[in-house]
Amino acid sequence: MTYHIPSEENIQNALVNIFKKIHIVNSQKELKKLVTNELKTKNKNYGVSGKRLRNIAIQTDFIKLDIHSREGDPKKILSKCPVCDSSLNRVKNLTIWGGEVTIEFRCLKCGYWTGKKKRIPSRYIFHFIKK
Ligand SMILES: [Zn+2]
Repeated sequence: MTYHIPSEENIQNALVNIFKKIHIVNSQKELKKLVTNELKTKNKNYGVSGKRLRNIAIQTDFIKLDIHSREGDPKKILSKCPVCDSSLNRVKNLTIWGGEVTIEFRCLKCGYWTGKKKRIPSRYIFHFIKK
């Protein structure tokens, strides 16, 4: 069985159809199953990676991502958002001695944030949001 690569538009349309019926999808794996089922035709099967699917879902205006995570290594340097690959915003705080200290990193695109103990995303929940 060969898998076809769906276009971004195909995936967006599939997401629209799915979230008309279901308002919460509890994992990326489940969403992937729903989308590939939605795209499937009589003689074509589609394959989409979880990461690609997640990024397309983030870009829609009707899906909100809930990121569950576990604690990671405080020494790890994050150069990009581990969820959507966007650049992270440093949220700085002034110390009582007048210096600056970075306390948090935030992603403005998907809502991921982390403090000193780098949060490692472990599960994604997709919510339907009304426009
Ligand atoms: Zn992000």
